[in-house]
Amino acid sequence: MKLFTYAKAGATAESAIQEAAGKKGAYYIAGGTNIIDLMKDDVVVPDHLVDITALNCNQIEKIAGGGVKIGAMLSNSDLANDPYIRATYPVLSRAILSGASAQLRNMASVGGNLMQRTRCSYFYDVAGDCNKRKPGSGCPAIEGYNRMHSILGASNKCISAHPSDMCVALAALDATVHLAGPAGERKVKLLDFHKLPGNTPEIENVLAPHELIVSVDLPPTPAAFGKNWCYLKVRDRASYAFALVSAAACLELEGGKIKSARLALGGVAPKPWRAADVEKMMVGKPADEKTFKAAAEAVMKSAKGYEHNKFKIELGKRTIVRALKVAAGGVA
Ligand SMILES: Cc1cc2nc3c(=O)[nH]c(=O)nc-3n(C[C@H](O)[C@H](O)[C@H](O)COP(=O)(O)OP(=O)(O)OC[C@H]3O[C@@H](n4cnc5c(N)ncnc54)[C@H](O)[C@@H]3O)c2cc1C
Repeated sequence: MKLFTYAKAGATAESAIQEAAGKKGAYYIAGGTNIIDLMKDDVVVPDHLVDITALNCNQIEKIAGGGVKIGAMLSNSDLANDPYIRATYPVLSRAILSGASAQLRNMASVGGNLMQRTRCSYFYDVAGDCNKRKPGSGCPAIEGYNRMHSILGASNKCISAHPSDMCVALAALDATVHLAGPAGERKVKLLDFHKLPGNTPEIENVLAPHELIVSVDLPPTPAAFGKNWCYLKVRDRASYAFALVSAAACLELEGGKIKSARLALGGVAPKPWRAADVEKMMVGKPADEKTFKAAAEAVMKSAKGYEHNKFKIELGKRTIVRALKVAAGGVA
């Protein structure tokens, strides 16, 4: 491992930004559950680590007029287990609890979860090529072992998948990410925060150098989303495994018909995948198998499978149908 310097930022975002600004190769470290692994494998080689664990953005605050502000340093466990989140945004709580392990969730932060890197094995293998790690070197996953990879939104430069569960629920819930950096503060929709690979898979999100995620806001949602929701994660093991396919579904029903719908997918794309067009397509239709099957077909219409992950297209359809059915049935 290459030597690096370390500094602990104070309670404010400004102190963290000051500590990182102007320093080439400076990285923030929050829970350390991803960046330390990447450092051990030489995938990420920081010159300077800025520890942000003392930042005072580790609470959930209710926003006047509805919604909540979630501090970036709040642990995944504290967010998932918060009584208000469980009651009002249960799809988020369940998504988080379906990820990693209790110990990891205790350490992992909200900001770190948004920033976690892909689990593509070629990305982790520094002896080989990877356009994300070494731009222009190639994507061995396209012709290689691609079972966990993307079927939507990939490019001929990168087919890795985004691994987060939490972000799938945040995508469905229309979250907004608050950033602070050397150039000031700004807000970005979660759906615009992560970038598709296109020709530049090394650019994974819209963060400018040394910009810090400060919080994530959730707007108020229809009360029905506290009852008619589902987060379904299909994976190789019952726990402690990344998603092959996951779906976050929330429905608002009126007289057996769909008044509004949210649908986002994980494990299938390089970023949390919101099916906004398909949500609109479902509005006014009966909340039944025919509608849900048509929705699943529409989401997967543009899907492209590779040698080892073609199965995800059918699996994705079935996951969507089941998640929508469970959401329609309602959780007591
Ligand atoms: C074995 C294992 C299994 C896992 N399984 C799952 C799973 O099933 N589902 C799932 O969703 N996740 C899973 N995870 C991933 C886990 O959720 C992430 O590692 C965690 O969320 C990262 O948070 P952290 O605070 O530890 O980030 P760190 O490791 O500290 O940082 C990760 C990255 O984020 C950057 N960063 C951190 N905070 C900020 C901030 N506020 N602003 C800007 N940049 C920031 C860091 O610079 C770094 O680049 C798993 C992890 C492991 C190790």
